[in-house]
Amino acid sequence: YNESFQKAIKVIERIEGYHHQAFFVGGCVRDYLLNRPVGDIDIATSATPEFLQEIFHNVIPVGIEHGTVIVRFEKESFEVTTFRVDGSYSDQRHPDSVTYIDKIDKDLARRDFTINALAMSRHGAIIDLFQGKQDLENRIIRTVGNGRERFMEDPLRIIRALRFSSQLGFKIDETTLKHMKQVKQQIGNLAIERITNEFTKFFAGNYISQGCTYLRDTGVYKYLPVFKDHEQLFHDVASIKQPLYSFGEVMAVCHLLKPSLNISMWTKAWKCSNKVKNEAIQLSMHIDTWKKLGVSPLLVYQLPEYLYESFVRVASIVDPTSPIQLTDLWGIYETLPIKSRTELAVNGNDIIRLFPSYKKGPWINDLLNNLEKQIVLHGLPNQYETIKEWIKWNPPEIS
Ligand code: ATP
Ligand code: MG
Repeated sequence: YNESFQKAIKVIERIEGYHHQAFFVGGCVRDYLLNRPVGDIDIATSATPEFLQEIFHNVIPVGIEHGTVIVRFEKESFEVTTFRVDGSYSDQRHPDSVTYIDKIDKDLARRDFTINALAMSRHGAIIDLFQGKQDLENRIIRTVGNGRERFMEDPLRIIRALRFSSQLGFKIDETTLKHMKQVKQQIGNLAIERITNEFTKFFAGNYISQGCTYLRDTGVYKYLPVFKDHEQLFHDVASIKQPLYSFGEVMAVCHLLKPSLNISMWTKAWKCSNKVKNEAIQLSMHIDTWKKLGVSPLLVYQLPEYLYESFVRVASIVDPTSPIQLTDLWGIYETLPIKSRTELAVNGNDIIRLFPSYKKGPWINDLLNNLEKQIVLHGLPNQYETIKEWIKWNPPEIS
């Protein structure tokens, strides 16, 4: 057990101390048995959220209407969910009602796949009501219960099946696959954010090729934002053989493959956060520059450091013939005379003071950009007086 598991064991012990049951459930049991790195640790318990709030000091009611809280314990977060059965899903988004129960069996039955329906006690004893261990050994994704019904109840499970096949490299059971195809139209009713969340993990999977094959053969892609209207683009993306670690990278690749589809449109259609949108814009912009001019110090300067790895990944897809390595970027970074605008020897206020009669406007930023370029590319020394002199000979143009 790693350190997080050790702490989670203490959480379970405390709950058990109050004569309630608590088990590890879901992805952490699956990944533990597979010897994969465990992501977040989910715990299922007979204790109600209210009770958990009494016995733990720091409880965040993230999804209390579904019986889920986050227990903060020794600086870690654990998602703790009360054993429950779901009412019907009339909106295909949330169950209409949830009912707490005091045994785990029906709670496991509401879970999506057999490999996700395993529970484990703090001693490591496995509860396996749906042959999940056998499916783990045979590397198979299979719904708990009738796939048609389970996918109708929550069509996101169709996408989750694809996501797990991409992450784990598991085959999808034939019957489950048939039911995915039968119910796939229902994906259109889902909240886009849920789809995007699963697809981010899908594209980052180590077995992305297999995931894409399923995505194509099931026809599920015909119900996804943008791809549904651009079949060829989907096929081009599906032929990519390597994982992309964020949705920003995915959109940048798509935009570069089909420039007429801009990032704003993508981010609206997939309801991405501004952070992801910004990442996609930065990546596609800098890849464009790189395609025209290669790797220059200015490119390395302007590309935010946190995007270096993404840049290399996207570049290798856009142009597999001219591989660029992460070490190339960092090598150039080391030689840069300045690493960011904050290191520039003049700032916006200095410039305004040099031209007291000019109205404030975009010219200030343009001039700062130009100064950065002069320093990074053309050896202008980064000293206040030298820069002032340079500006005097190259005054900003104002329209
Ligand atoms: P990850 O490693 O990405 O966290 P996970 O299997 O833990 O994978 P989560 O989305 O964290 O996936 O969900 C935790 C568990 O809750 C799942 O393993 C599954 O048992 C159950 N679950 C999650 N989403 C659904 C769903 N839409 N329908 C049924 N069960 C679900
Ligand atoms: Mg999880």
